[in-house]
Amino acid sequence: MSYRLNYDEIGLRVGLEIHQQLDTKTKLFCSCPTSLAEDPYKNAVIIERRLRVGKSELGEIDPAALFEFRRGRLYRYLASPSYSCLVELDEEPPHPVNREALVIALAIAKALRSNIVDEIYFMRKIVVDGSNTSGFQRTAIIGLGGYVETSQGIVRIQSIALEEDSARKIEEKDNIVTYSLDRLGIPLIEISTAPDIRSPEQAEETAFRIGVLMRLTGKVKRGLGTIRQDLNISIKNGAKIEIKGVQKLELISKIVELEAYRQYRLLQLKNILLEREVPREDISLDKLVDITDLFVNNKNKIARFIREILEKNGVALALPLKRFKGLLGFELGPNRRFGSELADHARAWGGVGGLIHSDELPKYGIDEEFLKEIFRRLSLSHEEDGFIIIIDEREKVLKAFEAVIKRIHQAFEGVPQETRAAQEDGTTRYMRPQPGSARMYPETDLIPVKVDEELLKEAEKYVPEPFEIKLRRFVEEHGLSKDLAYSLIRSRYIALYEELVRKYSPKISPQLIASTLINTLKALSSEGLDVSQLDEKDLEEIFRALSEDKFSKELIPDVLRVKIKERDKNVDEILRILSIKRISLEDLEKIIDEIISKSSEEIIKRREKAFNIIMGRVMESVRGKIDGKIVAEIVKRKILELLRSSGQ
Ligand SMILES: [Zn+2]
Repeated sequence: MSYRLNYDEIGLRVGLEIHQQLDTKTKLFCSCPTSLAEDPYKNAVIIERRLRVGKSELGEIDPAALFEFRRGRLYRYLASPSYSCLVELDEEPPHPVNREALVIALAIAKALRSNIVDEIYFMRKIVVDGSNTSGFQRTAIIGLGGYVETSQGIVRIQSIALEEDSARKIEEKDNIVTYSLDRLGIPLIEISTAPDIRSPEQAEETAFRIGVLMRLTGKVKRGLGTIRQDLNISIKNGAKIEIKGVQKLELISKIVELEAYRQYRLLQLKNILLEREVPREDISLDKLVDITDLFVNNKNKIARFIREILEKNGVALALPLKRFKGLLGFELGPNRRFGSELADHARAWGGVGGLIHSDELPKYGIDEEFLKEIFRRLSLSHEEDGFIIIIDEREKVLKAFEAVIKRIHQAFEGVPQETRAAQEDGTTRYMRPQPGSARMYPETDLIPVKVDEELLKEAEKYVPEPFEIKLRRFVEEHGLSKDLAYSLIRSRYIALYEELVRKYSPKISPQLIASTLINTLKALSSEGLDVSQLDEKDLEEIFRALSEDKFSKELIPDVLRVKIKERDKNVDEILRILSIKRISLEDLEKIIDEIISKSSEEIIKRREKAFNIIMGRVMESVRGKIDGKIVAEIVKRKILELLRSSGQ
């Protein structure tokens, strides 16, 4: 099923926030390395902290901070001395800002035609999830304004900031969150676009364009987790929803599509609630009915997990919902209903496993008969009404219902503003309320940095060239055809191409690299192979092996074919599967001699014209084992020798 809508009509607006790790030698405020520990527990000192909430200067409590505080979680930090020092532990003030990071950030700002600030001031931005030991993240504006071009128009850049990455979440269990400090402090560039994006595809293209531009500086990290996108999505009469933690570019258009649909459906839901004149004031905590006894009476029917909760002092409370028939099962996306949205809130605020709603019954062993009993007890009509049941310890159930009721009330208004987390399938889940404004205050441990001529000149070295110039260089210097150069520039492989040329040319020609990345992959894809299975590391591995003469270029498609199907195999293993062994020149000459002596009459008759026939026969037995050019040279030489010695 498609969830696409007419995006002009619903007034879709999308803004992106892209976070990219910079590939510097050391962290932003200390001299720790910018790599991640393979085993974060190894040699790690473990430090535990809890989050406390304080009022801001204006006497307000931040809603997002309060949410995290109420969860009462304990934060555990793994501090390996090889990857962190006292700065990450917030036991030592930050060292002066890393100049290399500053230079790269400036280069990226220039590439996006942003107005670079005269002086860089670091600020402290409150973080509420324990991902920074200090409770704040250091961030500084580098540039304001700028733009990126997409096929659907220009998308403006709002700001470009240099900041420190947060600690890496390792696990979350029993209200204890474990973070590794290895990632904390890695320089990160944050690019925020204006809400100029008008379609799911344009959102993905914008992220892609900005990503390529950053990659082309040659100074950003690669691989999963090194680039993370947050999306701000709204539709007309909806709300600006913040979606966090999108790691895969290919997921962006799906997420935008599904979030636009969710908001659109929530607005429809609001209209239905108003049309039906659902009595809003009746939806409250004092209307909860304890139906634990009904569950105890039906003990033999109900699902085991429910029985187990009840046996451990659990209670079953029900919230009657007049005129709600069908609305809890109201679809908001793939496998997402209004009921699932409410369940997210129950889980997040109450720590319960979930909820049961009337539109999904009969289920969990609650059969028709039991269902009727519940409707009767709640004085509700089976035909018109609905209800929600939550089963757990009483205190948790009450907390969960408080959140569920609040969320139902918000449905009468439309789309509530909140922060959501991206899921693997492109759907999103409620994460927490959106933080209030004024979460920033000056970082007093760092002195401002003047952006002088010298700094700007250094940055110039990393500013990637404009696409028009790149196109010309690919044609004139690399010898690519115009078509190939153009396809390359528009492809996802442009940055990889430049890196491969830098590393392996002239040993491997730029034409071969380009045509493999564009034409060969396209051909394999039309064979029905999923070339998206190959990541850049896979492709680079293949070119490295090629540069080491492990196989010849004719064999690239075969190697790729195996790699796509068996990604865990390295090139050596693949060559073994293809039973390819390089053949020595000596052996080659022997093979050629044999074939020529068998065909000597034919050669004498056809003279030079015999070349193609002989070449074909030789290649049949040596294809992939040695470069065709070498074979051709020897074949040619041997034919001439034969003709000469035969006195012709
Ligand atoms: Zn450090």
